[in-house]
Amino acid sequence: MKMDRARELEKEMLTCTFCGFCKSVCPYFEDNQWDPSVARGKVILAYGLARNEIEPDDSVVKRMYQCTTCKDCERRCPSNIRVIDIVQATRADLVKAGHVIPAHAKIVENIENTGNPYGETKDVDFGVHPKEANVGYFIGCTARYRNTSIAQHSISILKKLRIDFTLIDEVCCGSTLHRIGQPQNDFVRLMKENVKAAQDRGVKKLLFTCAGCLHTFKEEYAKHLDCSFEVEHMVQFLARQNLKLRPLPRKITYHDPCHIGRHMKIYEEPRALLKKIPEAEFVEMRQSQESSRCCGGGGGVRSADPDASRRMASKRLDSASEVADVLVTSCPFCVNTLEFGNETVEADIEILDITELIDGLLVTSCIGDDAP
Ligand code: SF4
Ligand code: SF4
Repeated sequence: MKMDRARELEKEMLTCTFCGFCKSVCPYFEDNQWDPSVARGKVILAYGLARNEIEPDDSVVKRMYQCTTCKDCERRCPSNIRVIDIVQATRADLVKAGHVIPAHAKIVENIENTGNPYGETKDVDFGVHPKEANVGYFIGCTARYRNTSIAQHSISILKKLRIDFTLIDEVCCGSTLHRIGQPQNDFVRLMKENVKAAQDRGVKKLLFTCAGCLHTFKEEYAKHLDCSFEVEHMVQFLARQNLKLRPLPRKITYHDPCHIGRHMKIYEEPRALLKKIPEAEFVEMRQSQESSRCCGGGGGVRSADPDASRRMASKRLDSASEVADVLVTSCPFCVNTLEFGNETVEADIEILDITELIDGLLVTSCIGDDAP
């Protein structure tokens, strides 16, 4: 089997000292206590595959997909190994050789046929007609087709703030394809469609509520295309606004989505926003900000290994319900995965996206001070 992409990282794989620091943070290892599921195990497998010393049998392929790309091992790794690059490069080589997990094959087919991983063919009308505007809102597939309340509340916030904005004719951002090792050409095709859709509307700033979409635009799109617009998460945008919020006398904690947390270091803005809520008590979970635990949904894990994903989400809910009665996050896919985890544990906690919470408290007469 040709392992071109993985071979490029072979030297880096050799710098793993097997110290095991990654074991202390990996949500997958915490779930199954199985060494091949943690970073060093995957580095060993990737090295074996790159050198053609081991066969890509089903068990090896399965392990290479046991990674949510949460990046916590990279934070702890004394050798600064780019674990996610190694995992994704190895996945890309495996896919090229025909090793595709059935659940991922379905996602790829859905994106190809419908432009979204859920295979939804009906368009959802959010009551905003596309037009020329400086500000665009990229809804993302999960808020468009699953947790639609997040899109509705985000649109409501922008309207209350009297921001002149537009939706764009978006397709899937391509994050999932990229993470599960699908061919780069397919990913670039989606990127081009989205960039054109934003540019066609004259957008200068594109806002996101999905952590994965924003991270993909910020890091990957810029590598391949010339984006003539800024990208920003809604929490960054809202943190600068002069918001008038109604009181909420409840205990609130915040789950940092890996893709805007460890990957983009957006920690302060959501907290600043939550601390503006009168009478609310903001409390941190044991694992928060840079040491936040993954919800268990990323990196293609939710579809490939839903049972593990659910258990990881349940653990996060346990941590949250120890300290608060409202768990807020800023990513529809995290919300969706946490709700999925809650189907079994039924934690005594309300799970909300930050846009849902803020819109519910936002006094309508307030005027934004950051309209570009
Ligand atoms: S922390 Fe880094 S060097 Fe240590 S075992 Fe894990 S991947 Fe290897
Ligand atoms: S990125 Fe996260 S899930 Fe993947 S090996 Fe590292 S700690 Fe584990």
